[in-house]
Amino acid sequence: MIRRARVKVQGVVQGVGFRPFVYGLAVRLGLAGHVLNDVGGVFIEVEGEDTGIEAFLNALRDCPPPMARVQSIHSAYMNPTGESAFRILESATRGSVRVVVSPDLAVCGDCVAELENTRNRRHRHAFINCTNCGPRYTIIESVPYDRARTTMAEFDMCPQCRAEYADPRNRRFHAEATCCPDCGPRLDITDPHGRAIACDDPMREAVRRLAAGQILAVKGIGGFHLACDATNEQAVRELRRRKRRDLKPFAVMAASKMQAMRVGVFNEDEKWLLKSAERPIVLVRRHTRAPERIAEEVAPRNARIGIMLPYTPIHHMLFEDSLHLLVMTSGNATDEPIAHENDDAYLRLGELADAFLIHNRRIHVRTDDSVMQVVAGAPRFLRRSRGYAPFPVQLDADTSASEILAVGAELNGAACLTRAGQAYISHHLGDLDHLAAWEAFHQAVETLCRTLDVVPAAVACDLHPAYATTRHARGLGLPVVAVQHHHAHIASVLAESGRDGPVIGVSFDGFGWGDDGNAWGGEFLVCDLAEYRRVGCIAPVPQPGGDAAAKRPARTGYVMLREAFGAEEAAGLADRLLPALAAEERRVIDDMIEHGVNCPSSTSAGRLFDAAAALCGLCDANTYHAQAPMELEGAAWSAKAESGYYPVQPREDGALLQLPGVDIIRGLVADRLAGVPAPLCAARFHNALARAAVAVCAKLRSNTGLSTVALSGGVFANAWLLGLMTAMLQENGFEVLANAVVPPGDGGISLGQAAVAARRLSCV
Ligand code: ZN
Ligand code: ZN
Ligand code: FE
Repeated sequence: MIRRARVKVQGVVQGVGFRPFVYGLAVRLGLAGHVLNDVGGVFIEVEGEDTGIEAFLNALRDCPPPMARVQSIHSAYMNPTGESAFRILESATRGSVRVVVSPDLAVCGDCVAELENTRNRRHRHAFINCTNCGPRYTIIESVPYDRARTTMAEFDMCPQCRAEYADPRNRRFHAEATCCPDCGPRLDITDPHGRAIACDDPMREAVRRLAAGQILAVKGIGGFHLACDATNEQAVRELRRRKRRDLKPFAVMAASKMQAMRVGVFNEDEKWLLKSAERPIVLVRRHTRAPERIAEEVAPRNARIGIMLPYTPIHHMLFEDSLHLLVMTSGNATDEPIAHENDDAYLRLGELADAFLIHNRRIHVRTDDSVMQVVAGAPRFLRRSRGYAPFPVQLDADTSASEILAVGAELNGAACLTRAGQAYISHHLGDLDHLAAWEAFHQAVETLCRTLDVVPAAVACDLHPAYATTRHARGLGLPVVAVQHHHAHIASVLAESGRDGPVIGVSFDGFGWGDDGNAWGGEFLVCDLAEYRRVGCIAPVPQPGGDAAAKRPARTGYVMLREAFGAEEAAGLADRLLPALAAEERRVIDDMIEHGVNCPSSTSAGRLFDAAAALCGLCDANTYHAQAPMELEGAAWSAKAESGYYPVQPREDGALLQLPGVDIIRGLVADRLAGVPAPLCAARFHNALARAAVAVCAKLRSNTGLSTVALSGGVFANAWLLGLMTAMLQENGFEVLANAVVPPGDGGISLGQAAVAARRLSCV
């Protein structure tokens, strides 16, 4: 029977080859009709045999083009019109824009084949791309997505490219970044002052220099990388020296999956993630006896390593000759956002790189590489940026009446904007106490508002009165919803799991402002999206120096010794276990605690990790954010089978259940004094904390009847702890929710803020 169907497809469906895909599919199935882009998505009418129409709808659902992210397909039958051909119609552009800007994806296999084919006209063309691949979010300045609104606008297509662009059967049909060596951007190699280096081929010159041990600044999709040969000890040491990045691990780019597997141990999920079109850095265990030797300085004292595969044509060509493993680290000074403009790059990276491989296509939105790990069977973010931003999360609330801007916290900034119930999360912005990151924050908010065509009517922020984000939010003149930090963490899990609660929330992190004005960071909440009740915490301890304590784990170690053993005994123990802490410094701490000077109390789980790492002799001072906890986790990884733990006795303090961290410290100190090696102590510390937290959850279950636990907060970036707690909770009959769409740390907190605000505003 002949039928006609009208189909509406929504999601990331524009600029991703959807119309040529629909055209090809309809023609193949002998269907007539048309397809067009509209502000609301892609609209299709198809007419033909009902079996053909059914096959058409199935294919739309089951195998859309690689860059498309279909969120919904609505279809309805209508009267056949007798049409006999299939056409692509002009886009309608009136009305408010409702499409989703695609994230940037890795260069596709077809394009790589052309890149390598000596007879193809795009052979070794550094900017090759098609509708199935390449930059999007980073080059789009405005919507609807077409070339005039991207940073490709300044390059006029040559007749040959234009013909491909206009041909619905071509892979580059309406691929807005289509170009070739004749008409596209140009690659150049320069010295650190921006002066051209004379050579036949900038690409080959760059490879030659890398092979000779030089450090290159390489312009990629979302910004500059600093690159050097990862197997060259001297080059890597020099890069570390120039970056003044004491010990923070560098990411490695491997020429191929095979090369990656010579350095790291990958399970099936991790292999899949490594090869995915989003191309994140995948954090995996290092081969203990790696067949491929990478320089020790790439990831010193670390059992794991971050590996990614090439994702731009330029990366592919870097590996053409003898190189197969490159350090690829963000082109920035530590904690600043990645450099993305040529002038800025020369200014900021001039002293770091020996040469610059650059080009003249502007990057509109800078994005760092995303960093992921697989824990408890699911890929999880440590940093969510390139390849994923700004893909949205569907909230369980309609925000149309009052769209919400959520500004996040302070470290690892990321903004979030709602549109019609979807929450769009920006790229990673860095630590917002840096001026450059703060500028990036403003640009990100502005870009979200413009590309989504949204004017926020309310703003959500943290409770912390001194955060720049909070002050900014309060200055906007909009209704403000202030969300407690740890409630927002747990809400981010609820939002991405499509849950409303109530649940038991376990939020462990470094620091968040409590509603009593104290420093919180080891919290047990009973909460839903709208409200929370604090029902437990890690027992508070003094934190002399306040936030500054995060920089000196040895000081926190000493404070914990005092708490666990009293001031007198602590002095003797500190001599043995914390030799790096001078007696003078100890006296200052004693003084601060005894006189209550600049000495807030803190329930932080992060500081407990700091103390343990220091007492294990692993880390006295953090040279980068969360170094001590990462080293403690790293040590635990090398004692994998250890099941010992330190006993902890949760206490009740009124309505608040307290988990005494000092119990754990007592056990750990006894082990250290008995000469138990650090990795075993680290494993027992993790086991103890997980057991104690699960015991608190069990108590809360019997009090409340709730048996779902949501885990979030920066401490759950610790794969070891997250895996352990998930398993133990499940064994105890709990359902466990944890972040998989946004990071568990403050990079995901704006989503939680938006979800809470959406719920509170819709209840009003
Ligand atoms: Zn392609
Ligand atoms: Zn061309
Ligand atoms: Fe946090």
